[in-house]
Amino acid sequence: MRKGIGVSPGVAVGQVYCVDEIFVNPQHTHLPDHDVLAEWRRFEKGCEETAAELRALAQKMTRQVGQDQTGVFYAQEAVLRDPAFIGKVREEIVRHQRPAPLALENVFKEYEQLRARTKDAFLKQRLLDVHDVVIRLSGHLSPLLSLETDGSAPRVLVARELLPWHIIAVGNLPLAGIVTQTGGATSHAAILARRRGIPAVTNAADVLSQCTNGDTIVVDGRNGTVIVSPDPEQESAYRKLQREFVDLRGQLAGNRDQPARTADGVDVALLANINGLDDAHAAAAMGAQGVGLYRTEYLFLSHPAVPSEEEQLERYRLVFAAAPQRRITIRTLDLGGDKTIPFLGHDREANPFMGWRSIRLSFEHPEFFLEQIRAVLRAAADPAGADAEIHLLFPMITTLEEIRRIRAMVRRAGKQLAAEKKPYRFVPLGLMLEVPAAAFMIESLIREVDFVSIGSNDLVQYLMAADRDNPKVSHLCEPLSPAVLRVLLRVVQACNGAKKPVTLCGEMAGDPRSFVLLLGMGLRSFSMSPAVIPQIKDLAQHIDIEQAKSILRDTLTQRTTEQVRKLVGRRVRELVPYSELLQAVD
Ligand code: PEP
Ligand code: MG
Repeated sequence: MRKGIGVSPGVAVGQVYCVDEIFVNPQHTHLPDHDVLAEWRRFEKGCEETAAELRALAQKMTRQVGQDQTGVFYAQEAVLRDPAFIGKVREEIVRHQRPAPLALENVFKEYEQLRARTKDAFLKQRLLDVHDVVIRLSGHLSPLLSLETDGSAPRVLVARELLPWHIIAVGNLPLAGIVTQTGGATSHAAILARRRGIPAVTNAADVLSQCTNGDTIVVDGRNGTVIVSPDPEQESAYRKLQREFVDLRGQLAGNRDQPARTADGVDVALLANINGLDDAHAAAAMGAQGVGLYRTEYLFLSHPAVPSEEEQLERYRLVFAAAPQRRITIRTLDLGGDKTIPFLGHDREANPFMGWRSIRLSFEHPEFFLEQIRAVLRAAADPAGADAEIHLLFPMITTLEEIRRIRAMVRRAGKQLAAEKKPYRFVPLGLMLEVPAAAFMIESLIREVDFVSIGSNDLVQYLMAADRDNPKVSHLCEPLSPAVLRVLLRVVQACNGAKKPVTLCGEMAGDPRSFVLLLGMGLRSFSMSPAVIPQIKDLAQHIDIEQAKSILRDTLTQRTTEQVRKLVGRRVRELVPYSELLQAVD
């Protein structure tokens, strides 16, 4: 049994499916003599395809931002022609008769060890190029994930860490649960799991070394328990819980057409966070009243090159058309931090979350930024968007100057489109409140925006100075800490006082305890993973505003996070007893 962090509630029992960080389940087989040459050819073909992809990227970059950003692609392409690198892989395939993905993995590990040891900055950079190109190349050699729906037992994905590109690869494949060795409550794995309503545990130390594909595994997302090869009694007890969990989820989903309204008749907006078109459909299926956060960076992360304005326009049209109740808040590119793409010339930084990320990166690349704004304004004027309620949201705003700069960019986009005689429509502009400095200046910032969306995932990590993805500090990265609650109260009251619409779109919006407290603070609009909407709607129907205010009042007298969690957890269980099965247990 292992103990990690329960990040997506519910219970699952299934078969282990291991995903290594980069190489997905390489076959540890010895190639028969007659397959060796074909395998080598397959590797060569993968190299050619990767090189062609890099050249195309470089050309596109040259057209869009100029020559000086393209060096990285040529450097990476050179790795594919480097005799030392190629020679090592060749030796693995031809001499040791290993399949190409495994050969590449072995060579990769060797280079990674060297990278960890070297102090030479130039060599480190070259080895980083190797790292990046190998990731790209591995995608050409092995299908990302092959979780066939062959009717076998449901799979539980077990990984060291789920990276953004894994999430894309996983897509809508059927999964019963997720377990990762690292990561905290707002890591990609956790967000993916909650989005799909799949029980998940992160930070389960060493779990990969304890299990192999096909083992039975239990995942209890409520308290972080993971059991590999449970004994028969454990297995049957957890299977019973799993059935109850699945039944309850099914029952709650039946409320999709009911209004989201508190017991005393106050309407709340329950919106969905989405990464793309599939999620927009899921949001509609779960009864979301709109999309409160469309994370557009997934379009860029999943694209082989840079999506052009026309491609973006096409995608936004589709997503706008699919958004429930034709209501959507679209967020501009939020790259950097843990989400990097090579074409923005993004170097690795010592402090990526505090560095060149999000809106800061967009300002540095006005061509991309402007293209994205243009695509949104155009999609808003399109028949798919013309009758929709579209809002444009800017991430990680820190200062008033940034808001003014954004407004100037939007005006410029409008002028350009008017001159080009392309239809466009201006839409309300909002700031994403994620930086403590902005929280303290909220009264002044809101005068210059049309709405606010609180990004509590980032706000909490910056307030508590605790990396949201680092499990070693996850006890600090806690939305229910008294400090966070006070800042949120201040922001919600300021926005309500100024009559500026405010939504909270971080993961805490979908947590029953946080939801109750936010409701007590006066928040009426929440954006969350589609899968948790039915549960939150049900909770809303069981509580009235006075109760929420009284729970908040009691909470604000508590001085530790643990006291807050216990108090609110108990009150939520009194309101909806079944929530034992769906929420974290302290
Ligand atoms: C947030 O920070 O709360 C948020 C919703 O944005 P993301 O998780 O994409 O950083
Ligand atoms: Mg954020």
